[in-house]
Amino acid sequence: MAKTIFKQIIDKEIPAQIVYEDDLCVVFHDVHPQAPVHLLVVPKKEIVSFNELTAEDTPLLGHLFAVIQKLAKEFHLDNGYRIVNNCGKDGGQSVAHLHFHLLGGCQL
Ligand code: 5GP
Repeated sequence: MAKTIFKQIIDKEIPAQIVYEDDLCVVFHDVHPQAPVHLLVVPKKEIVSFNELTAEDTPLLGHLFAVIQKLAKEFHLDNGYRIVNNCGKDGGQSVAHLHFHLLGGCQL
């Protein structure tokens, strides 16, 4: 199966503005930002969507949310922010690799 665009970013095959990376995830700026701050928080594990998460992924999910909280601080989103996950076709998911949008920097 062809790699998704996010897997290619994880594998450093295509460029992205990466702002954070660790063993479990990578975070980069969305190429079409919908807010002054629009980051994509992407696990390195290839999980197609939120719906494919299993109990085994619970620690990973906790880690992703901890990273989101840390980045919200670093990007000074002190007045709040929005975390978005689009799941599947009806959810408007366009990249089949689990990711969370972190949006902020304005009144949404
Ligand atoms: P989804 O619609 O699946 O929830 O979100 C996919 C997001 O990935 C969109 O907001 C889109 O702008 C972003 N995106 C798609 N291709 C690329 C890319 O090549 N690089 C970056 N940085 N973002 C991308």
